[in-house]
Amino acid sequence: MSEKRDYYEVLGVDKGASADEIKKAYRKLAMKYHPDRNPGDKAAEEKFKEANEAYEVLSDDQKRKTYDQFGHAGMEGGFGGGAGGFNGFGGGSGGFEDIFSDIFSSFGGSGGFGGFGGFGGGSRQRASRGSDMKININLTFKESVFGTTKKIKIKHKEACPTCGGSGAKSGSDVKTCDKCGGSGQVTMRQQTAFGTIQQTVVCDKCHGEGKIVANPCPTCGGSGIVDKERTLEIKIPAGVDDSSVLPLKGQGNAGRNGGAKGDLYVYMSIKQDPLFKRDGDDIYFDIPITFAQAALGAEIIVPTVDGKVKLKVPEGTQTGKVFRLKNKGVPNVNGYGKGDQYVTVKVETPQKLNKKEKDLLRQFDNMTGKENHQNGQNFWSKVKGAF
Ligand SMILES: [Zn+2]
Ligand SMILES: [Zn+2]
Repeated sequence: MSEKRDYYEVLGVDKGASADEIKKAYRKLAMKYHPDRNPGDKAAEEKFKEANEAYEVLSDDQKRKTYDQFGHAGMEGGFGGGAGGFNGFGGGSGGFEDIFSDIFSSFGGSGGFGGFGGFGGGSRQRASRGSDMKININLTFKESVFGTTKKIKIKHKEACPTCGGSGAKSGSDVKTCDKCGGSGQVTMRQQTAFGTIQQTVVCDKCHGEGKIVANPCPTCGGSGIVDKERTLEIKIPAGVDDSSVLPLKGQGNAGRNGGAKGDLYVYMSIKQDPLFKRDGDDIYFDIPITFAQAALGAEIIVPTVDGKVKLKVPEGTQTGKVFRLKNKGVPNVNGYGKGDQYVTVKVETPQKLNKKEKDLLRQFDNMTGKENHQNGQNFWSKVKGAF
């Protein structure tokens, strides 16, 4: 697969561009590269498709947020096999139809938008979108840092393969509802003390479908929908954390009567690591060193997510001193570089000294002068000043 261009780059706008700026930029490109203005020009067609795709995402707050967070990885599966999938716009998640009717009229009847049949929800009656699904994926700390591919079994609702979702045993078993004549609505007249009240209500015989199934499909019992288990391979980008939600468009439950599929939202639960603590893209790590290492200086080995690295602890290092290992943190989920690892050294006080060791330490303590305990000196002078 070829590398996809950044959507902001495609539209030529900043990351912080307003909805209006995005719309304007898109309009400009759509006008320029529209197939009607560039008949037979393959490159223009590609540009047009690319702009459409970018606009579809950046004009939708939710999708834009996802894209900002996950980049193209978050959009996976969202475009039905590439930019060619114009049919998917039906049902209008907002914005698109407006801007297109705009452009249509500005073309002033040049006609011939043959390929765009799918706009505006289509002619099918009572198509309803499938419901969204949520799943939770457990990741180890390492998987969250490097990304991974997870195979997950999920059960979802799908159009019945026997009846194709109609719910009827055969095509001839679907009859127009005799009560409402197929409109799905009936007008009721009610005599009251105040006169006749006329009211239009949903037909109770066909529940508003306008059609009645005479012989229900034996597989789905007439619902048109069956449960199906499938294995889904989910690509988790590197750098996700507990707050990450990965939306997979069209991977949710099937819609009714040809309605669009719902979406699948993948939530992450990341197992805490006993050593590496994470905050954003940075990692915090504590490492014990001996008193002698702190006093004399030492080269110590520090584990990072990228493997072990050497860290030079300078002579006279205090406990609690923090060292920064640049770019040894977590990769940013949007591809903006990597965080750092902060290493805190903890000087370990010996707890089980034998007599000889204690004697040596006393000797050592008596030998070391005031200049070696500046902090202690400063502390006691402050205390004296305070009282
Ligand atoms: Zn009816
Ligand atoms: Zn069926």
